[in-house]
Amino acid sequence: MSDLLLAVEREAVASASRHLAEKGLVIGTAGNISARQGDLIAVTPTGADLGTVTAEMVTVIDLMGQVVDGDLAPTSEVPLHTGIYAATNALAITHAHAMASTALSCCHDELPALHYSCLGLGGAPRTAPYATFGSQELAENVIEALKGRNAAMMQNHGSIAYGATMDQAVERLELLEWLAELYWRASSMGTPRVLTDKDFEAIITAAIERGYGAVKKVDKT
Ligand SMILES: [Zn+2]
Repeated sequence: MSDLLLAVEREAVASASRHLAEKGLVIGTAGNISARQGDLIAVTPTGADLGTVTAEMVTVIDLMGQVVDGDLAPTSEVPLHTGIYAATNALAITHAHAMASTALSCCHDELPALHYSCLGLGGAPRTAPYATFGSQELAENVIEALKGRNAAMMQNHGSIAYGATMDQAVERLELLEWLAELYWRASSMGTPRVLTDKDFEAIITAAIERGYGAVKKVDKT
């Protein structure tokens, strides 16, 4: 295992694939995951059941998308992954056809801001316009939708997120799915109230003042 090129990244890609399959965000072969280290990218193989991917099955490509190491052909979404690495500071990317965010991508250009946690994605995620899977056009549309955001929906296709670590890329994809499911459930109960720009100004101020999201010890003084 440790002799593998990009062993750490291959393991991270494989375990994230299995985790997302276990959580039900990825069904069968529908999704792809990658991690970057320097000029190389570890990426899930095409056609593989993501619930059973191992580090040895993960393919290594270069930044141009050429295979450097591995027995299995890489995902058909190579242009999407190489494009996002070129355009952002991403070190890990997760893409799935998760139900709620995919459903939302069929109906909305942006995920309505119902909950302050969307700030963790850089704001309300946008939907990248539809283009055929694996195409350069799809990669370009997604890169545009990701401007100022770290997650996006892909119209009539799925969802995508990136991060500085694999854990971050996984958590953001899960947060996007949670927000989409929140919208879906709220919409079934009535017309959801959407947070305003003024609400977000207050949320950002409070988050900075209180160090929101960081673990804190109880003040016993
Ligand atoms: Zn896809």
